[in-house]
Amino acid sequence: MAKVLVLGGGTAGCAASHFLTDLGHQVTLIERSKVLGGSCRTYYWGGHPYTLGPRHFLTKQEKVWNYFDTHCPMTRYEGHEFFTYVERDQAFYHFPIHRDEVDEMPDADKIRAELGACKGPEQANNLEEYWLESVGPTLYDKFIRQYSKKMWQIESNSEITDFGFTPKGVALKTGPVKAAWSEAMSGFPTAANGYDDYFDLAVEGTDVHFGTTAEEFDIPNRRVMIDGEWTEWDIIVSTLSPEILFDSCYGELRWMGRDFFKLVLPVKEALPEHVFFLYYANDEPFTRIVEYKKFYKYDSPTTLLGIEIPSFRNKLYPFPMKKDQDLAQKYLDLLPENVYSIGRMGSYRYLDMGNIIEQCFDLAEKVGKA
Ligand SMILES: Cc1cc2nc3c(=O)[nH]c(=O)nc-3n(C[C@H](O)[C@H](O)[C@H](O)COP(=O)(O)OP(=O)(O)OC[C@H]3O[C@@H](n4cnc5c(N)ncnc54)[C@H](O)[C@@H]3O)c2cc1C
Repeated sequence: MAKVLVLGGGTAGCAASHFLTDLGHQVTLIERSKVLGGSCRTYYWGGHPYTLGPRHFLTKQEKVWNYFDTHCPMTRYEGHEFFTYVERDQAFYHFPIHRDEVDEMPDADKIRAELGACKGPEQANNLEEYWLESVGPTLYDKFIRQYSKKMWQIESNSEITDFGFTPKGVALKTGPVKAAWSEAMSGFPTAANGYDDYFDLAVEGTDVHFGTTAEEFDIPNRRVMIDGEWTEWDIIVSTLSPEILFDSCYGELRWMGRDFFKLVLPVKEALPEHVFFLYYANDEPFTRIVEYKKFYKYDSPTTLLGIEIPSFRNKLYPFPMKKDQDLAQKYLDLLPENVYSIGRMGSYRYLDMGNIIEQCFDLAEKVGKA
């Protein structure tokens, strides 16, 4: 039986604890705050449940879906559609951009000509080139240019040099199904408190310490100082930004965060049936609006919208620039055997919850049975 320390009690830390206690290991988890779940925890505003951002679960892997659905019963979504508001057309269009909708745009002829002239994104060195060579300048301007600059607070999207350039899978979708995640299994917990019961269940066999953080690290020897005492661990699973483990010896990693505003409206539902959130790709300061009722499915005469504004006040999105990714990799290369760095912060990657559960399957395979 290995003595394991898990750092951070978000989705990654809770799931890692679950997988490793199931294998018979002795797991201790330290969590800085007073609650589990990190940014996927359910909070309440005037009786409305919400998380920070949408946080629906999605995966293409059956084993990931089955694991989650078994331990956190899910309501499955079919036909969940994403829309982007394009102010210059005064219209909402599907995102990913759908080929059929180009014909409905006021400048359809120009866009069709540009699409015909695209060379394809194979040689693209950055996000701007990727989109220009995939869809041409007009669609790039409508959907991507301002959105990405706003998202990362940058001058030019050519700065984005290391990224799955289209996080939603394809640049220009075709075919009869316009739903964003038609190829993935997606859903949200059926429970009224979202993921919270899962987090409790996942750490049932784990020794959890709230309001606790590590004061110092000696990672080569797998030693961590907590409450003034050094302890040596057989295995460390960190879900924290990797430079923290090494006293930021190469410098700090950059993060983009979100300021989050809540808005209650005097209507039962604000968005159309299959629309759970909207993207805004123009000069407005926010990037996304989420209607929580769509996820939590509760009855109320009013509805809560969450409005997300990019900010540097918290650590949510790792920067998709090569220099930032290279710096993170320098830290990850320092990890010795039996020290793992997982989760969105720990990997310094744009991972969703499904990807994090995949990481925990891998972790369990590497660590093995007690
Ligand atoms: C706005 C937004 C919306 C998203 N929407 C979706 C979505 O719809 N679907 C989806 O699948 N994914 C979504 N994601 C991504 C997904 O939710 C995250 O990847 C995932 O929840 C990250 O889990 P985590 O455990 O790695 O990190 P976190 O949830 O951030 O958890 C980290 C935990 O570590 C604790 N901690 C931090 N520092 C310390 C320390 N020094 N010592 C001890 N504890 C510490 C924190 O308090 C926290 O509990 C979204 C992400 C964002 C930012």
